[in-house]
Amino acid sequence: MASSFQKLSIPCVGEVVIPNPEPVNLNTNLNCRSKSYTKTLSTVAVEKTPTAGKFGSFGGAFVAEVLIAPLAELEAKFNSVLHDHEFKMELATALKDYVGRETPLYHAQNLTNHYKNINGEGPEIYLKREDLNHGGSYKMNNVIAQAILAKRMGRKSVITATSAGHHGVATAAVCAKLSLECTIFVGTRDMQRKPSNLQLMKLLGAKVKLVDGNFQAAASESIRAWLENLETDYYLAGTAVGPHPIPTMVREFNSVIGKETRKQAMEKWGGKPDVLVACVGSGCNALGLFHEFIRDESVRMIGVEGGGSMGTSESGDHDELHCASLVRGEIGVYHGAMCYLLQDGEGHITTAKSVASGLEYPGVSPELSFLKASGRVDCYTVTDEEAVDAYKRLCRLEGIIAALETSHALAYLEKLCPTLPHGAKVVVNCSGSGYNDAPIVLNMS
Ligand SMILES: *Cc1c(COP(=O)(O)O)cnc(C)c1O
Repeated sequence: MASSFQKLSIPCVGEVVIPNPEPVNLNTNLNCRSKSYTKTLSTVAVEKTPTAGKFGSFGGAFVAEVLIAPLAELEAKFNSVLHDHEFKMELATALKDYVGRETPLYHAQNLTNHYKNINGEGPEIYLKREDLNHGGSYKMNNVIAQAILAKRMGRKSVITATSAGHHGVATAAVCAKLSLECTIFVGTRDMQRKPSNLQLMKLLGAKVKLVDGNFQAAASESIRAWLENLETDYYLAGTAVGPHPIPTMVREFNSVIGKETRKQAMEKWGGKPDVLVACVGSGCNALGLFHEFIRDESVRMIGVEGGGSMGTSESGDHDELHCASLVRGEIGVYHGAMCYLLQDGEGHITTAKSVASGLEYPGVSPELSFLKASGRVDCYTVTDEEAVDAYKRLCRLEGIIAALETSHALAYLEKLCPTLPHGAKVVVNCSGSGYNDAPIVLNMS
């Protein structure tokens, strides 16, 4: 399964760049196998002082020489706009008037009732309605911010890759608004599952390039295209993975989700949430909700990954049919950063599978990897079937059509709610809308 992008970006001797390397016995033989890191890293992941781009021992920038300067330029620009009043005003206005923030913190009364025990006791369920953003998902928060940044860097065109399609649709829309050229790489497998997203991206004026395979293939191909046009094109990363500064930047632009949640919780019940729940594909919407609360020890955080199908695969091996990088993965390097990832006994990346295409990523955010390794975030899986049941449950109980990705978080409520005390406040990140998933769900019924 090793793609050529891996060959480009996984550290081979002489190509490793970690800002202020830590005194960790990283196996010095940096061949392209990642298993050898596992033992030394897991023991030190928790205690290290933060360095730019490092989350404990996770993260870093394991990239080919050619990317070092463009990433350094991006980091410098990102750091400067964070303190730039004009940028902040432009972004705030766009988030309000174009994206439609703030999104509601919705008290899901019927879902709450569904989880009450025979004494009428149970937790209170709230949904952070990121599905109501323009473009239908939380992805817009990051896309609009980076597109404004791209303009400030003088770039005329944007390259990206998408899986679920939400990131692609958001990017195409924002590029139209900001008069940026836009090229989006999509895997044929994802395109077949969600053809309407492809049409939307084209209507919004984007060039769509199909790549044989799934998101992994599309992502690798998009990076290759960017490498050919480093000077003129902006690579608009859709999620908090990849080499520094991308994980930090994308998380920062999505942390508006948690900041609003804190304010809204205070307004609604005069306190903090007790439990935060989010689905985890590459970990971006989860971090967007969690980041604001990391230091609030009383706030529990739960990430829910795709456990895959209970059915058997063509090969009859059903353990491989999942995308649970945090729960079942091991530490290694993927797409330029150290994180938990799915790999076989040889250290080769294995294919991530889920009914929700947006969860199909074999790696996961380095920051979320760190939060998992340090015990701050608990991680679980639910199956495709449980997610589809949760999709239908929310439709019937609340009249809300949430994405199949989001439905993984919702499905975990079945296990979580009976264990919670009466009145506990649970916030589920409703990461996106699931209109496009309806054909998939109906096909499975
Ligand atoms: C992309 C996407 C996800 C999965 O990605 P994360 O990086 O884990 O957030 C989840 N939900 C929706 C609606 C998405 O579009």
